[in-house]
Amino acid sequence: EAPVDAAFVRRWLDAAAAAMDRESARLTELDSPIGDADHGTNMRRGFLAARTAVEQDPPETPGGVLVLVGRTLISTVGGASGPLYGTLLRRAGKELGEEQAVSAARLRDALRAGVDGVAALGGAGPEDKTMLDALLPALDALTGALDAGGGAADALAAASAAADEGAKATTPLRARKGRASYLGERSVGHQDPGATSSALLITALAETARG
Ligand code: ADP
Ligand code: MG
Ligand code: MG
Repeated sequence: EAPVDAAFVRRWLDAAAAAMDRESARLTELDSPIGDADHGTNMRRGFLAARTAVEQDPPETPGGVLVLVGRTLISTVGGASGPLYGTLLRRAGKELGEEQAVSAARLRDALRAGVDGVAALGGAGPEDKTMLDALLPALDALTGALDAGGGAADALAAASAAADEGAKATTPLRARKGRASYLGERSVGHQDPGATSSALLITALAETARG
């Protein structure tokens, strides 16, 4: 299977940027009843800026690419999701260090460190109706599939399906973090925009591994 190197992470970034561009209107629509109707524009702007930053000064390691993407998201996305997505990817990148190519299991460990960083920064946990409701099930599915001896592409496909399910499962939840939490009970019945964009990010990763 293809190792996770800088080129792999750049393909992931391209796929993610394309997804945020394509789904921008839908993400913003999800953010209107329970937010301020900017999630799609935030994500689109951030990922396109990250792609430009990486093209202008391409890091040589997978960790370096992730750190640059994370840093760019922090400075361009804004809102709650900018620092959170920035932390996710920057922390994951730092975890990979200077290595030129890593295994899927190392990528999984790096993503876990990133997700831990999101939880620490935002103070959210499972079922708070946030991006973690897609990221945590994705990480569990990825771990389960790799531990069962599955290949990277299949394990990431399982992670993508779990992220999608997790995002859909935010609909009946009441938001306990972020802007949507101000609505209390009125946040029930709407899918969380951040969980939806997280599912897009994991799906882009699965597509990259599938080739
Ligand atoms: P803002 O709400 O500041 O306009 P965005 O619209 O870009 O920012 O992002 C909103 C998303 O951020 C939410 O749908 C949710 O998934 C995520 N989010 C908000 N607060 C938190 C938090 N404390 N922890 C994790 N995710 C959060
Ligand atoms: Mg918003
Ligand atoms: Mg906003």
